Amino acid sequence: MKYIGAHVSASGGIWNAPANANEIGANAFALFTKNQRQWVAKPLTDEEIKRFREECDKYGYTAGQILPHDSYLINLGSPDDEGLQKSRGAFIEEMRRCQALGLDRLNFHPGSHLKAISIEECLKRVAESINIALDKSEGVTAVIENTAGQGSNVGFAFEHLAEIIRQVEDKSRVGVCIDTCHAFAAGYDLSTELGFNQVFDEFDRIIGFNYLKGMHLNDAMKPVGSRVDRHSSLGEGKLGIVPFQMIMKDERFNDIPLIMETPDPNIWKRELDLLRSFEI
Ligand SMILES: [Zn+2]
Ligand SMILES: [Zn+2]
Repeated sequence: MKYIGAHVSASGGIWNAPANANEIGANAFALFTKNQRQWVAKPLTDEEIKRFREECDKYGYTAGQILPHDSYLINLGSPDDEGLQKSRGAFIEEMRRCQALGLDRLNFHPGSHLKAISIEECLKRVAESINIALDKSEGVTAVIENTAGQGSNVGFAFEHLAEIIRQVEDKSRVGVCIDTCHAFAAGYDLSTELGFNQVFDEFDRIIGFNYLKGMHLNDAMKPVGSRVDRHSSLGEGKLGIVPFQMIMKDERFNDIPLIMETPDPNIWKRELDLLRSFEI
């Protein structure tokens, strides 16, 4: 089964997200469980948790169809000790929020070396951060997202993600989310049928489909290898529609949330209809 949706708004309260997803005909969704631009959030109350779960039940969303995303401020590979401690604390909180909400995965960007440490050292810090967070939470898988390689972000090469996984102790609670725009910006040309097959063969060889816990379906505004993270609506960017057709026809992408983070919420419903038309 294909679970497709978008990163929907949770404004006014996280319990609004399931209805927002249902409105566009999605059978999956992503959300922030707190304000993504702030470090601290009020703890979730029992009432908020109950409402969220009731709404998910009402519209038929199970944990496997939901891919929460963490705050943009967190840098789990920070070269700066204070920044690293702050990030680790905030990430543990996010993992616990997911746990409290009955969610089973948390999607995050690995981190940035800020030109102060090597990529290897940064990846090591990210893995240590994940080990700590897994130790202090239960039942939630840490889902590392590939990046466009903008600035000093690590995680743009499949090898980076594989190296983090190698250093994570509990392999049953670590996974990856591949963002099509980020992969393309990082130099993986999945815009053609041939290119797509090569990229995902490489993905399977270096990381493995068993670790794939979600996908971000975004077209790319900038050319392949640009290292610039700018999303476009499906079929309107440099990636084009081919990779999305390929994903919808490929069983290896079944039963995981496939989430659009495309820029125009007004056409999300149409984009989802388009994706569904590729399924057969
Ligand atoms: Zn992301
Ligand atoms: Zn993404």
